[in-house]
Amino acid sequence: MPATTSVVFDTQYYLDLEEKFGAHNYHPLPVVLQKGEGVFLWDVEGKRYFDFLSGYSAVNQGHCHPKIVDALIQQAKKLTLTSRAFHSDALAEYAQYITAYFGYDKVLPMNTGVEAVETAIKLCRKWGYEKKGIPDEEALIIVCENNFHGRTTTVISFSSDPSAYNNFGPYMPGFIQIPFNDLKTLENVLQNKNVAGFLVEPIQGEAGVKVPDEGYLRKASDLCKDANVLFMADEIQTGLCRTGKMLACDHENVRPDILILGKALSGGLLPVSAVLADDEVMLTIKPGEHGSTYGGNPLACKVAIAALEVLKEENMAENAVVLGEQFRKGLENIKSKHIKIIRGKGLLNAMVIDHPDKEAAWKLCMELKENGLLAKPTQGDKIRFAPPLVISKDQIEESIEIIEKSISVLD
Ligand code: PLP
Repeated sequence: MPATTSVVFDTQYYLDLEEKFGAHNYHPLPVVLQKGEGVFLWDVEGKRYFDFLSGYSAVNQGHCHPKIVDALIQQAKKLTLTSRAFHSDALAEYAQYITAYFGYDKVLPMNTGVEAVETAIKLCRKWGYEKKGIPDEEALIIVCENNFHGRTTTVISFSSDPSAYNNFGPYMPGFIQIPFNDLKTLENVLQNKNVAGFLVEPIQGEAGVKVPDEGYLRKASDLCKDANVLFMADEIQTGLCRTGKMLACDHENVRPDILILGKALSGGLLPVSAVLADDEVMLTIKPGEHGSTYGGNPLACKVAIAALEVLKEENMAENAVVLGEQFRKGLENIKSKHIKIIRGKGLLNAMVIDHPDKEAAWKLCMELKENGLLAKPTQGDKIRFAPPLVISKDQIEESIEIIEKSISVLD
């Protein structure tokens, strides 16, 4: 017997530990990750994978991007949290930077995506009462069926997914659901003078990368303008170069009245979200009426500046356009009767599986994992493919080969 024995913890050890001590609110693939760099992840046994989820598009800049990590380390040694009871140089610098970057008067910093959505809803209602003149307690916000905007009690109140809202009521009133990509219904509902805003994902990510018809966002934004209603874009998943433009709304030259960002705003390092709007909207919220202890903390501000710089310095929008096309073409060339539809924009793509087995998408993801690529089913029969935007042409080719090889598991 050696004097010391080293214990090697394997995948099953960590799966068991998490199962026993962690809440069961997710159903992850059975892979335990330990390290990430660029487009790659490594599990506890040292196996390497292509990451085709990118933390649900939070890691657009690639895992542990050196410039963003450096910004985090430098600021972590200096000052991390002041709360908003005091000012910080980092927040002032960040506010100027991000408003110039996206062309808005003001930013309201928050942490998670859903907090930014909540903030947008509060701003919209406040504007509705104080600027539009909607009678007290009667403001309405139009949302789309099959939306995904997060998990708070307000936001699940207007979800159409029973697993998101069942047994979590009573629900928050004041929302009208209409079909996504349906301008006629939007136009009709906008006749109601109590409508304050329209909240929309430019592409419905969680619903399975549903891309609306060309011109939908442009026309929807015009209809909102005509009706004196705020057009609110939830670009938490679609923004920050993911679809091949800085914002998915940029494809149609739409400037949202309220822009909601999260996820890749920190490149995957911290929860950092933001709401951007002009003064007429943003200044309706006064001191003491909204906030968050960590929102706008100096660490987050410095990380976000670096994350935004990297997107432009490394031409990530352009990369998403070129490699997105290569990826979709590659998938289209795969001969399999189990591929029903391939759709997407830039590097936000999905494959719809055609198979009598309801578990087919999950099985394919398990096989992809075996072959070194991580992706996750969404809505049962769809698999989202969203690698970090730093992926190269050769890596896309290699990934397509893995997908082609894996799909035969469904035969
Ligand atoms: N909005 C959209 C479009 C999203 O995709 C998500 C997360 O997937 C959210 C909001 C919620 O973000 P978070 O999980 O950071 O609260």
